[in-house]
Amino acid sequence: MRLTINKKRLSSDLRMLARFGEYQTGVNRPALSGEDIAARNWLRNRMEEAGLEAIIDGVGNVIGRTPGHHKRIILGSHTDTVPFGGWLDGAMGVVYSLEIARTYMEAGGNNNIGIEVVSFNDEEGRFYALLGSHFYCGLLEKSDLTGIHDTDGISLQESLENAGFAGREIATLDPAKHIAYLEAHIEQGPVLENEKRTIGLVTEIVGIRRSRVKFYGQADHAGTTPMKLRKDAAAALYNMATRLEALYRSEGSPHTVWNLGKARIEPGTLNVVCSFAELFIEYRDPSSETLRKLQNKLDQLSAEVADRYRVEKESAEVVTIEPAKMDPMLVGRLEAAAKNLKKRHMRLHSGAGHDAMVLVKRIPAAMLFVPSIGGRSHDINENTQEYDLFSGAQVLSQTVSDLVDDHP
Ligand SMILES: [Zn+2]
Repeated sequence: MRLTINKKRLSSDLRMLARFGEYQTGVNRPALSGEDIAARNWLRNRMEEAGLEAIIDGVGNVIGRTPGHHKRIILGSHTDTVPFGGWLDGAMGVVYSLEIARTYMEAGGNNNIGIEVVSFNDEEGRFYALLGSHFYCGLLEKSDLTGIHDTDGISLQESLENAGFAGREIATLDPAKHIAYLEAHIEQGPVLENEKRTIGLVTEIVGIRRSRVKFYGQADHAGTTPMKLRKDAAAALYNMATRLEALYRSEGSPHTVWNLGKARIEPGTLNVVCSFAELFIEYRDPSSETLRKLQNKLDQLSAEVADRYRVEKESAEVVTIEPAKMDPMLVGRLEAAAKNLKKRHMRLHSGAGHDAMVLVKRIPAAMLFVPSIGGRSHDINENTQEYDLFSGAQVLSQTVSDLVDDHP
């Protein structure tokens, strides 16, 4: 089966979708906002026009299936955005998927293998990161709906009711029927552009750890208390932060990244010795082993620092997401298609989370990336060169053709 994507149609769908929540050169379309709901309804209609059986399910996932009772390849990504995000992000992968399903229908389909296009709700985590794919994969259930809120306290259940989606059946994946998941996404980093490649084949998605370290000191007069008698929680925090930098450089892998993006000190004034300090540390790596090692080192270091500054410490890992290895066979198929179409390509890991890391827990899954100009993303300045944009769709559709041809 040969699936030839229509560039004009692809481009026009991308532009149309970007109008929902359009903000300057970007899009503001957080999950289940008015603009997001309108975009979901638009997508469902577009799927129907393409001849797909389309639904929006009880958690807001938009699903379009080619008719028939065959096995299916799932193609998808997400159409929600971070506040004031980019126009491509997950929308690109969804529009690729729609276009490929449309060309599949035009080509007359196949009796054995069909396509299921999915736009997973709330990938960006307004309510819960990767929400839609968790429900789709059965990792969250209907009874979980009531306990989930956004940071403003707005409940997911209420938002689904307002959108008119609440109470509908929640669609779930069936590993006996769904044979593979493929997701295309912008890279959201500068690697492909720096390496002058058009296509990235994702080998694994990094694991993420977030730790919180609290130091309890003692508030004293900052003028009268001799240095050696202080229990200064802020001094402990600053020492910990600088030593972490050295620790991660020496003990991490070349892929390890870390961020000390959040900290708090109390009472936060110059004439009082700091009584409480809290440091948040996020670090990512494709290897669980490296992550485990770094976690142990972090615990050791915080104990050492607390000892040195005579403060009490409390440390906890608050987020634990294991790395997800993509299916080697599917990575190979994407790579073969890129090679076949003479697109410059490379293998790389993803430093960002994606729905594919949830899907791969249940069925074989893989991802392809296209370059982000300047590595920019989660920002209205996010963009991708037109050649790269079309190349990604071509490689994905070639891969789908190849997989369909495996089941004549
Ligand atoms: Zn995304």
